[in-house]
Amino acid sequence: NTFAEIDLGEALNQNIRRCKYVKPTPVQRHTIPISLAGRDLMACAQTGSGKTAAFCFPIISGIMKGQPVQRPPRGVRTVYPLALVLSPTRELSMQIHEEARKFSYQTGVRVVVAYGGAPINQQLRDLERGVDMLVATPGRLVDLLERARVSLQMIRYLALDEADRMLDMGFEPQIRKIVEQMDMPSPGVRQTMLFSATFPKEIQRLASDFLSNYIFLAV
Ligand code: AMP
Repeated sequence: NTFAEIDLGEALNQNIRRCKYVKPTPVQRHTIPISLAGRDLMACAQTGSGKTAAFCFPIISGIMKGQPVQRPPRGVRTVYPLALVLSPTRELSMQIHEEARKFSYQTGVRVVVAYGGAPINQQLRDLERGVDMLVATPGRLVDLLERARVSLQMIRYLALDEADRMLDMGFEPQIRKIVEQMDMPSPGVRQTMLFSATFPKEIQRLASDFLSNYIFLAV
């Protein structure tokens, strides 16, 4: 039971070796095969459980192995990421971005981060250079959507990290607005991974609204 036995694509497997990850953590061992099989999932995961890799690996692998996509050149400045990771805070977003960049090295998958509480201009420039996987806090992403700088119409992977914390921080309206945009004009083929430390009613409601035919994992 090692990462070498899971074919995530050569470049990603090499990055995993470079990070010195040999064995998957329990969360990774249970979630990665489900995500690679294309199923939606809701997983119980605490900080330090290795959940970042648990959602990054299937996303990066899926984008690497997926068909090259023709993104509609609608507005010149609008970008069309294929994967979105929503996280509650600037700090967590920066951490996810840092890890995702290591995992995506030489895979061709471009990762960009956008969070609130920082000037938007540098983030806009980063987006303009192209983005496959966007890591964002909900408020800043809504801003980017309203400016039509990001479109979610091509999203194939959605990961919600620390979903309970996002709800505690009052981000539910923003999250719902974001997911609504992915479903317009019609619900596409989107794979969703929801990670949360706790499972109150509000999280269960999010799961039943956003996930389809999902697997629930309490590791
Ligand atoms: P996370 O829960 O994603 O914040 O990860 C916690 C820490 O564990 C981070 O420093 C990761 O780099 C590290 N980590 C994650 N997965 C593995 C693994 N399979 N083997 C060794 N370290 C890991």
